[in-house]
Amino acid sequence: MKIICIGRNYAKHIEELANERPETPVVFLKPDSAILPKKMPFFIPPFANSIHYEVEVLVKINKVGKYINAKFAHKYYDEIGLGIDFTDREMQSKLKEKGLPWEKAKAFDGSAVVGEFHSKDKFDLENLNFQLIKNDVVVQDGNTNSMLWKIDELIAYVSQYFTLKKGDIIFTGTPAGVGKVESNDILVGTLEGKQVFDLKIK
Ligand code: ZN
Repeated sequence: MKIICIGRNYAKHIEELANERPETPVVFLKPDSAILPKKMPFFIPPFANSIHYEVEVLVKINKVGKYINAKFAHKYYDEIGLGIDFTDREMQSKLKEKGLPWEKAKAFDGSAVVGEFHSKDKFDLENLNFQLIKNDVVVQDGNTNSMLWKIDELIAYVSQYFTLKKGDIIFTGTPAGVGKVESNDILVGTLEGKQVFDLKIK
């Protein structure tokens, strides 16, 4: 399976990192080795000085598809979830400055936290509240109604380039409020107030 990630999909997050608003979605990949095994803590990698959390709504693809029309994209997923796109921000900034690929800063082992998946039928996907809570404080408070590109538009867009396969996961971008993690932090993710993952930083 593969993980397809979307960058800069929430205007306020684009502002906080002083990025340019893209004309088309920003897309990058993580390999399956990036997935943090369930129940494992996240170990800050020895090469990293500035690991940032980015909470994101996840979409799990349920069948193969290419050149999917946005109108039919809803048929390609039954379940959604919440996860974290861990990013070595300092390294990413250096790579961006040089115009180099991001993978070392974004796709390292453990950089993809994947919480429980739930049937999408239980949710209003265009008005979905989600939060990241760090040490009992809400640090990211998002709603899919502020996405620049909606889930179905993202599926249509990325499937022009990458054949989607059953089990692939799309990370749909992070809202504002990203920040650094430190050892012993506890992160909790909620979808409409219901906890869908919890994680210790080591
Ligand atoms: Zn992200």
